[in-house]
Amino acid sequence: MFNSLSDRLTATFKNLRGKGRLSEADVDATVREIRRALLDADVAVPVVREFAGRIRERALGAEVSAALNPSQQIVKIVNEELVEILGGETRRIRLAKTGPTIIMLAGLQGAGKTTLAGKLAKWMKAQGHSPILVAADLQRPNAVTQLQVVGGRAGVPVFAPHPGTTSDLETPTGDPVAVAKSGVEEARQKLHDVVIVDTAGRLGVDAEMMDQARRIRQAIIPNEVLFVIDSMIGQDAVNTALAFDEGVNFTGIVLSKLDGDARGGAALSVSSVTGKPVMFASTGENLDDFELFHPDRMASRILD
Ligand code: GDP
Repeated sequence: MFNSLSDRLTATFKNLRGKGRLSEADVDATVREIRRALLDADVAVPVVREFAGRIRERALGAEVSAALNPSQQIVKIVNEELVEILGGETRRIRLAKTGPTIIMLAGLQGAGKTTLAGKLAKWMKAQGHSPILVAADLQRPNAVTQLQVVGGRAGVPVFAPHPGTTSDLETPTGDPVAVAKSGVEEARQKLHDVVIVDTAGRLGVDAEMMDQARRIRQAIIPNEVLFVIDSMIGQDAVNTALAFDEGVNFTGIVLSKLDGDARGGAALSVSSVTGKPVMFASTGENLDDFELFHPDRMASRILD
C-alpha cells in the first residue's frame, strides 16, 4: 500500500532540496507532481483538486521559516493536509452511557465485514469488554456459519437466527431486522456490554439491500455504524461510500485489506468525500491483523 505514492512524493520533494527560496514556478511544479501522484494512486479527482489547491495556497503563503528549509516546509504542509484528509484525530468507538454499545457493520459483499466482526470483537474483548456477535446477514448462504466460525476463533458468542445444526444454517430464513433486534435483546439479557451486528452485503449497491440496512439501523439505533470498505476497489470507492452514507448514514469507516497492493486511493478518498472518520484499519486475514487508525501515522508512512 502506498509504496508507489510514497516514492513519487519523496522524489518530488527531493527536487526542492538545496533551494533557498521557492518561486511560484517551483511551487506549481511541485503541486503538479503531487496531483499526478495522487491521481495515479486512484485518489478521486475532486479530492485531488481540493488537496492540491490547499497545498498550493499554503506553500505560496508560507512564512519563511528559519527552522525549516523550503523542501521541509512543503513536506510539513503536505503532511498536515494528509492528516486532515484522513480524518484528523484518531476517533475511538463511542460507548453507550447505559446499556450495551451497539455497533452495526455495513458494506458490500466481500468487503471484509464478517472478518472485521471477529477482529473487532476480539479487540474489544482484550480491552475488557464482553462482546456478542449478531448474525443478521441472511442473504449469503454461508454468512451465519462463517460468523459462528469467526466468533469461535475470537472466543465470543454469536447470536444466530437458527441455533440448530450447520445444515440448518446453510439456508437461513427469517427477517434480518427481527434477528438484529433479538440479538440486541439477548445482549441486554445476558449482560454483554458490546453488540456487533453483521448485516448483508451485495456485490453492488442495490436499493433492496440498502433498505434492509436502513431498517436494521432504525430498529436497533446503533451507537456506531461502521462502513467497511475494501481498499482495493479503487475509483469505485467514492460512489460506494456515498451510496452507503446516504443509505445508512454511517458514523465511521473501516479500511479493509490495507495489506494488499492497492494503490491507496480509496483510503484517501472515502473520508474526504463523506466527511466521516476512518476509525480502523484491517490488514490481513488473521483476527489480530487489525488496528485503530491513526491519521498522523498513516500520513507519516505515506511521506516516509
Ligand atoms: P464480507 O462479505 O463483507 O463479510 O467479507 P468477508 O469477511 O467474508 O471477507 C471476504 C474475503 O476477504 C475473505 O476471504 C477474507 O478472508 C478476506 N479478508 C477480509 N479482511 C481482509 C484483510 O484485511 N486483508 C486480507 N488480505 N484479506 C481480508
